[in-house]
Amino acid sequence: MALPKVANDKAQAVALGDAVLGRSDTYWSLADAARRWPSHVHRRWADVPCPKCDLKVVEVLESTQADLMRYRCSSCEWTADSVDDDGLWLDLFTLGEEVEVRPHDPRWLTRPEAARLARATPATVMRWAERSMVRSQLGRYWRDDVVVMAERRAATA
Ligand SMILES: [Zn+2]
Repeated sequence: MALPKVANDKAQAVALGDAVLGRSDTYWSLADAARRWPSHVHRRWADVPCPKCDLKVVEVLESTQADLMRYRCSSCEWTADSVDDDGLWLDLFTLGEEVEVRPHDPRWLTRPEAARLARATPATVMRWAERSMVRSQLGRYWRDDVVVMAERRAATA
């Protein structure tokens, strides 16, 4: 167990908290950090843009021992972790999306966009496409179809 070790070492806990939290320490206590990040934290820049401000400045913080990953935009306040929203963010930031090849027609949504719109998981969106309930093309999903599925989903909820 690395947690007691971290908790007992104030300097290490502070360093860890600083690495994990940066300026968002208003949201996370050191105890939270120690609990969620019991060991070393790998940091990298995500390949996909922030879902809120659309800037490609999302940091992925990955614990070497916990399965949890945390995503934090360094531009806006957006933050999430890999268990939020049924793993939506885990899918998005793990699989990545070819955001550079965004078609001119904005009615073709990326899978994360479609998932957000329908309040479903990316895996669900993919299933809809496989069952031809939502038209798809080059990994994009037709917005109108997604809206229909979202309404259907809301009606049965
Ligand atoms: Zn942002």
